[in-house]
Amino acid sequence: MSVELKPCPFCGSTNLKVWDNSVACHACDGTGPDLGHCVGEVCRQQSIEAWNTRAPEPNQARIEALSAALRDIDAVACDFGHYEAAARAMKEIATKALEKLWSEQ
Ligand SMILES: [Zn+2]
Repeated sequence: MSVELKPCPFCGSTNLKVWDNSVACHACDGTGPDLGHCVGEVCRQQSIEAWNTRAPEPNQARIEALSAALRDIDAVACDFGHYEAAARAMKEIATKALEKLWSEQ
């Protein structure tokens, strides 16, 4: 019997990759508990079960992660002038997400 894979506890994405020993989110790079050198279908099921028990990060951790991302975007915008418009758009998205998290505190 296969176990249903829950969405990413960090970002809610369902764009996930199940490995034999872990689950990874393509949207935020979050990963599941690493089961080590486990191989095969039983391990894949255990990976999914372990992934499904991951607790969402508290808002504070997400705020810190987004703040760090904003600093990275600022650095990119300074280093590569021709990417400035893309960086500005990314910053706007991240800023809105951060404001939403702050409002939920
Ligand atoms: Zn994710």
